[in-house]
This record gives sequence, structure tokens and C-alpha cells, in this order.
Amino acid sequence: MGIEQLVFDVEKVRQEFPILNTKVRGNKRLVYFDNAATTQRPRRVIETVKEFYERYNSNVHRGAHWLSDLATKMYEDARKTVKEFLNARSEREIVFVRGTTEGINLIATSFSRGLLKEGDEIIVTEMEHHSNIVPWQLVAQQTGAKLKVIPINDRGELVLEKLKDLITERTKLISVVHVSNSLGTINPVKEIIELAHQAGIPVVVDGAQAVAHIPVDVQALDCDFYVFSGHKIYGPTGIGVVYGKEKWLDKMPPYQGGGDMIKEVTFEKTTYNELPYKFEAGTPNIAGAIGLAEALKWFKQFDINAVHEHENELVKYATELLKQIGGIRIIGEANNKTAVVSFIADGVHPHDIGTGLDMEGVAIRTGHHCTQPVMCHFGIMATARASFAIYNTKEEVEIFVSALKKVLKFFRQ
Ligand code: PMP
Repeated sequence: MGIEQLVFDVEKVRQEFPILNTKVRGNKRLVYFDNAATTQRPRRVIETVKEFYERYNSNVHRGAHWLSDLATKMYEDARKTVKEFLNARSEREIVFVRGTTEGINLIATSFSRGLLKEGDEIIVTEMEHHSNIVPWQLVAQQTGAKLKVIPINDRGELVLEKLKDLITERTKLISVVHVSNSLGTINPVKEIIELAHQAGIPVVVDGAQAVAHIPVDVQALDCDFYVFSGHKIYGPTGIGVVYGKEKWLDKMPPYQGGGDMIKEVTFEKTTYNELPYKFEAGTPNIAGAIGLAEALKWFKQFDINAVHEHENELVKYATELLKQIGGIRIIGEANNKTAVVSFIADGVHPHDIGTGLDMEGVAIRTGHHCTQPVMCHFGIMATARASFAIYNTKEEVEIFVSALKKVLKFFRQ
């Protein structure tokens, strides 16, 4: 790969995001470092959604008229774009959902109906987002299955050696986050999948924080399921994707019942539609799916390795500058991490840091980031988290750090 392909013009990219010009808190320049919560949308995505409602809006798969045919084609083309983005084998493996949370609930609920029984075991990790813990707890309660946990070390990396001990003949599924939203750790999911497959165990990967930062190829990973949200990759909210291998989706019963997911309904017996429609009950988020496809096409124009490199530089730079300030502890120092810097500061509560930075125009997130077991591991209640995206710059990191110094000085004096 030539070096030309590895560089992109951040200033040009920024111009595509109208919201980045917003002035906040009394005409201050907005520094948006809350990208792990949600990214901003480029103009192309905003325009695509608007155009859909202005010109093409209609329901899908009910093709009695011109507009409906068109909307259906756009919706199914969006599925094709997602298929290509993930390098899935077929569109039958791509199910549109509301987001990662709904995606994991779909898999957990459907998998539990028929494929889980009392005494079975599901393995997750200590660094999961609550949306990859609670759905499994719910199905465990209903089926009598048990949840087991791969621990993390103090750098915020998985202690992978423990996985071999955790796997038994009762293990039915492993669900693991690709990139941690509170630590930034990139997990060795390929290795986990290889290990799991040796024992015939399927693996779910929560890709919410991965797709916008590192290359994802579901065939290369050989994962059984991959889930992500549109809004974390420059697309709309309310749309997300479950990728599932056909061999599993075929075996799994529907998640929800309703329109579109059936072939034939009588009071005696209902037969289900083919994949992926079996899992898409009711009117889907049509504009969301089309907006997501536009976001993926937009994002694909950049070399993902260049994006990753750019964001890594921001992580390194921010980490270095933060460490120069006294009394700061970085939470999550994995060798392999991306896009996230979580930290705590002696004597100042993360919420005060968040509020103080906000007064300076810097948007970060504070709290447990829906990963309370991670907070518990580090013996803390919360962190302050700066999370980066393609449009962030080193200059913004400097603004953030000097604002932070001001805030710390205020609270520490
Ligand atoms: N998993 C991870 C790792 C996340 O970061 C998030 C969002 N913070 C989710 C799952 C849930 O995603 P959503 O809220 O879009 O359903």
C-alpha cells in the first residue's frame, strides 16, 4: 500500500460535518470527544435521509406501487452495502435491527429458545458493555443456564489463558466485545474464535466500537455473529446490524412475531419467512438502513488503516499529555488499543471534570460507561473518557488538555 493511500486530509473531512462548526457555551469552539457514545454524521448521510423522506418514502416489501418498489429496492440495496462492508457471504446473513443492544437481545433470546437448557454455560468477559451481559443473564434466568466470565488484568486486557479453563462440554456460546468502550482495548477475537471452534462453540462479537476504527471482515474472523450500531459509524440512530452465519440463523426461531416475518398465518399454524426476513418483524427503519448504507459508503472511501493510524496518534498524544499532568491515572493501558482514553484524576470527581470541560466547549463522557464490572475491577465508580473519531485533530487534543488543566486547578485549589 502506497503512502498516498495512508494519508487523508482531516480538515477536508471536518468540512463534511456541519455540526463541528457549532459554537457552544458562549461562542466556544466545540471539541467533540464523545464519539464512543455516538459519532457525528457527514452531510451526505443527513442529505440521504432527508431525500428519502422527501422523495421516496413508502413502506417496503408491500410492493403494490411504484414508490414501494423503489423504497424496497433502496432498503435491499442497503443490505447489500452492509454485506459488502462486513464481507458476509450473502445478504441472507444480514439482519437489520435497532442497534447493538437489540442485536444482542435478538441473538440471546432466539438462541435460548431451543438451543439452551439448564446447566448450559455462556461465556462473556469482564469488560463487556452491559448490553452484552444483561441479555445473557435474562436468558440464563429463564433457561437455568450459567454465565461464566473471562477476567481482565490491570492493563485492561483479557486474561486469555483462563478461557481454556472456562470452556467445558456444557459451554454453548461465547460472546465477546471486539473493542472495549471504556478501555479502548482491542481484543484478540480471532484467537478466541479459533479456540471456541475447536470445541464447536459459536462466538458472538460485539462490534459496536470496532467497525469505525479497525478493519472488520466476518469471513476472515470466522465469527458466528457480529453486531454493530449505525450511529457509531457516522450513520443514523435506531439502525444496526446482526450478521449471523446462515447455519445458525436457520436453526434459531424468530425473535419477534408480526408482519413481514411470516410466510403463512393460520390460527392452527404459522410458517416463517426466509432469511433474513424471519428476524425482521414489522416495518423496519427504512430511512435508517438507507442512511447507514450511505455512511458505510462514505466511510469506505478512506483507508481504514489510515483512520486507525490517525486515531492511534490521537490516543498516544492525549495519553502522553495527560501523563505530564500530575495525579492522573489512565484506566486501560492495553498494548493493543484504539480511539479511547479513560482516566481519573486525584481529588477531582470525573463528573466535575466533565462539567468543567463542558464549560470550555469540550464534550467528553463521564460515568461507568455501561461497564460497571470494569469499574469494579479497578475499584472506581467512574472515569472521564475522551473518545476519538476520524475528524478529530491533535490541536483539539491540546485544547482538551489545557482545558483539563484549568478544571483540575480550579477543583484542586
Ligand atoms: N457495546 C458496546 C461496546 C458499546 O460501546 C455500546 C454503546 N455504548 C453498545 C454495545 C450498545 O450500543 P447501542 O446503544 O447502540 O445499542
